[in-house]
Amino acid sequence: MKCPNCGAPLNPASGEAMVVCTYCGTSVSLGSLGWTKVEKHFILDIKVQMKDQAELIAKGFLDNSIFHRHLFEKSELKKTELNYLPYWIMDAGYSAQYQYKREQVNPGGFVAVGMGGRGGFGGPTINVQTIIESGSDVNEVNYPVIAIENMNEYQPPDYVFSLSDKRPIGQDDVSGSIKLMNGTMGGEKARMEGKIRIQQWEIRRLQKSVHGFMSANVSVDIADMFLVHIPVWSLQFQHKDETIFLLIDAHNSRVMEETRA
Ligand SMILES: [Zn+2]
Repeated sequence: MKCPNCGAPLNPASGEAMVVCTYCGTSVSLGSLGWTKVEKHFILDIKVQMKDQAELIAKGFLDNSIFHRHLFEKSELKKTELNYLPYWIMDAGYSAQYQYKREQVNPGGFVAVGMGGRGGFGGPTINVQTIIESGSDVNEVNYPVIAIENMNEYQPPDYVFSLSDKRPIGQDDVSGSIKLMNGTMGGEKARMEGKIRIQQWEIRRLQKSVHGFMSANVSVDIADMFLVHIPVWSLQFQHKDETIFLLIDAHNSRVMEETRA
């Protein structure tokens, strides 16, 4: 197989389905039509360059978080590393129809609902009624799907990247000190995966924001999709038997939340 841009040989390893040409940065993706060129491939520059900086950002985050403090106090930092990870970004619109319940208090009246006193005849009673309402939410998201299947620790469920500074990938990007990683998931598979993840993401959002949330139907429409190589620091902590990853977006200097392996 040859690079569709520069003709250099491409040698995908077994299982790979998304390969970056090490000469020019063009990428190809494996789908039902075989290998095809990825037309939209971008990169985010590394702003957090040093390991010390990454650990400082992590420490600041853990110090300020009561919920996460145990990580810092009771865990051992085993490894800090920077990778250029490939993410398929779903440029998606979605709409949710959801149900939630609320309690309505009907004051007074003579409707005794089994609350009558010992005397047998209920006095003025308060009648609480549960009412099921429905609502809708329409929104857009640029949702990331990691292109490497066995690296779910790099997929924090509720983090979206800020992509305003993304730029097309070029020849200079493949000669940097941090290698651009290949992936095992082609674009078509990522699209299916992305739909499911966006549905789950919207349901978690509704669970947090809608009081009395019961259920939702989410439909997702992926308008566009592109590949972005994104620099991510991962700090690997050992806490008893558990390995916990704290991820830092090395372009935006933000903590992407913890994930567990
Ligand atoms: Zn090439």
